[in-house]
Amino acid sequence: MAYGPAPESSAEARDWIKTRSVIPHFIGGKFPAPEGETTEVYNPATDEVLTRVALGTEAEVDAAVKAARAALPKWTALAGHERATYLYALARHVQKRERFLAVLETLDNGKTIRETRDIDIPLVARHFYHHAGWAEMIESDFPGLSPVGVCGQIIPWNFPLLMLAWKVAPALAAGNTVVLKPADLTPLTAMAFAEICVEIGLPAGVVNIVQGDGATGAALAGHSDVNKLAFTGSTDVGRVLRRQLAGSGKRLSLELGGKSPFIVFEDADLDAAVEGVVDAIWFNQGEVCCAGSRILVQEGVAERFFAKLDARLQTLRVGDPLDKTMDMGAVVSRKQLARITALLAQGEAEGATLRRAPVILPETGAFCAPGYFSGTAPAHTVSQTEIFGPVATTLTFRTPDEAVTLANDTRYGLSASVWSENINRAIETAAAVKAGVVWINATNIFDAGAPFGGMRESGFGREGGRLGMLEYLTRPQIARKPRLEPSAPDIAPFTGKADRPAIDITAKLYIGGKQVRADGGQSYTVMGKNGAIGQAAMANRKDIRNAVEAAAKAGGWGGVTAHNRAQVLYFLAENLEQRRAEFVAALTAAGTPKPGDEVEAAIRRAFWAAAQADKFDGSVTATKSRHVTMTVNEPFGVMGIVAPDEAPLLGLLALILPAVAMGNRVVAVASQSHPLVGARLYQVLETSDVPAGVINLVTGERDVLAKTLAEHDEVAALWYCGSASGAAMVETASVGNLKPVWAETGVRDWQTPDPDLLRKATQGKTIWIPYGA
Ligand code: NDP
Repeated sequence: MAYGPAPESSAEARDWIKTRSVIPHFIGGKFPAPEGETTEVYNPATDEVLTRVALGTEAEVDAAVKAARAALPKWTALAGHERATYLYALARHVQKRERFLAVLETLDNGKTIRETRDIDIPLVARHFYHHAGWAEMIESDFPGLSPVGVCGQIIPWNFPLLMLAWKVAPALAAGNTVVLKPADLTPLTAMAFAEICVEIGLPAGVVNIVQGDGATGAALAGHSDVNKLAFTGSTDVGRVLRRQLAGSGKRLSLELGGKSPFIVFEDADLDAAVEGVVDAIWFNQGEVCCAGSRILVQEGVAERFFAKLDARLQTLRVGDPLDKTMDMGAVVSRKQLARITALLAQGEAEGATLRRAPVILPETGAFCAPGYFSGTAPAHTVSQTEIFGPVATTLTFRTPDEAVTLANDTRYGLSASVWSENINRAIETAAAVKAGVVWINATNIFDAGAPFGGMRESGFGREGGRLGMLEYLTRPQIARKPRLEPSAPDIAPFTGKADRPAIDITAKLYIGGKQVRADGGQSYTVMGKNGAIGQAAMANRKDIRNAVEAAAKAGGWGGVTAHNRAQVLYFLAENLEQRRAEFVAALTAAGTPKPGDEVEAAIRRAFWAAAQADKFDGSVTATKSRHVTMTVNEPFGVMGIVAPDEAPLLGLLALILPAVAMGNRVVAVASQSHPLVGARLYQVLETSDVPAGVINLVTGERDVLAKTLAEHDEVAALWYCGSASGAAMVETASVGNLKPVWAETGVRDWQTPDPDLLRKATQGKTIWIPYGA
């Protein structure tokens, strides 16, 4: 049976475009004429020029940020319910315009009308509804938190209006105002959205849109009055932004690229898995950050699976995206097509075989035949690089362990799709893959209530659900005193014994459960309020690497029950209590103002962390029909901690204990000025059943050690308490692996336990499980 054409009318959208010869900015509720240059906007399916779009200048970015700043106080002051009514109005208006917006998006991006009509635009409306709900509940569900301020948001071209909704809805619900920059390839639906903002009477300046290219994005990211930047796009630009924002104190969330595994076990429903591939890599022309772009199939079923996949490939239809019978439309631009084509040629040159659907592509437009590579090896460029087009790589595996090893053999960690009829196998694999989102017997499904985001070089931060809201909320900022710099350490050769007058201790390092000498054999003199009080080991890069290795080996800690971790922490509290007098004396010698209070707070903090170990839980969310979505709080793995000088005991433990309670192992740098206080913990750790390698403590020059921790690939997240220049240094040093870095440059009150420290000891993994009839 042949399909007849079933075109969707584009008349209304084209009429709308005709009356807009340039897509302008939306600033302070108005559409000012662009000051700078403009560029053409194409329909990638036909190569026709649809209109032009403004390329925002620095002055226009500045005007938009000023408008957002001016609108902020009133918007923030609105009751949650009032903001909810605006978000609800946005949702309703998007719904009323669903067909128009779907056609506009298809014309601009090249994706099929089936996808814009059935997926993108309904999800846009869903996001505004969902976040109208969070706005309504803000006072009850996020007590004590306030909006971050003016949020800069930069989005890509692959889901233009949907990415806008993912960014704008939570920001507004939380009481922020925004300046959003769409991709210059796809500006149309953002403009239509701006018009909806005017129609619903959204106060001027709450949403501002500056059209433009990368330079406009860079100006927005660099604007000094932006409090937070949220970015979705390539890992390369994510790195540029991480570097650009280093030391600025701006909050940053990055949703970057992926090379996500699609794992088919021999007990999978193979027909369902083949349909899964269609949704994984041929959905949206493969221009999906979480596309299942590496298909891993268990050897025993590989032949049958690929036979079925080949058969399915024959039936794919590629062509006019406005035709409702098409499976795939055009890729976003000829430039993107050239990029994909070059990567495919490279895959073939490296020895892989490219199998493609036997489609006749339209003569005009940027069309790309879908397919997959066979004969790819893990080291091939196409196995490691995001193609961002409709072609997957394939590999086979023998055992579930091998599947997980292959799945994790990537620098990314955005998503994974697991196919198996065996619930144990599916869940075990979901737990073992390094990915922020895992679909079991499904792929590429999304919901506003399900947090989405990556691990490793796929970025950090979550969008959607409660975790997504927290990205746009903060504790009210209390002006903090900047931290004083510790004095440069006075280095003496390490003799291993007390060798100076009035010195009663020479502390070593604590690595892998043992007290060890510093690799360089050096120590430094520690000053108390009345002069030298001892020496501490001067760790170097090698010591940090040894400590990270010890921590990496202690991976079993993340697998023990939360109850077991709590028991160890209670025991640690008990042992701290036994040595209370010793710590009071050490803090007194260090010159701490209220040593007794600090020790008391440290003991209580250990109790608090023990209590939280089995209570700081994830969530279970009702998302799509026949699915339940759970978000588990996974530990990062190895965390780096650079402790503050103020509160040398409490500050150190306030960061270590939540991390360890959540299942991380830590490499902590004790206060540079008061390292002997931290060093006294060695014996507490030795007697508290803390497994070797779970807590490693080093002493030495704060920023030298912090830099090594920031650069180390095995360190998955980093706390840095130090100076402003040190914060800029560690954030820059983390560009290579894009780990989350939390830098505290002001003197903090460590007395009150902060649940935010538990959240920053975990990363949400969202697991979609089939559930219900
Ligand atoms: P980019 O990361 O370059 O673009 C994403 C957004 O960032 C766009 O709005 C872009 O503007 C903007 N931008 C570009 N440079 C800067 C900068 N220096 N500072 C601030 N903002 C900037 O993606 P591309 O469009 O270039 O696509 C290249 C590749 O990136 C794709 O082939 C794909 O592999 C990957 N990608 C991944 C996405 C994801 O969701 N993970 C989404 C899009 C792309 P403008 O486009 O207007 O120049």
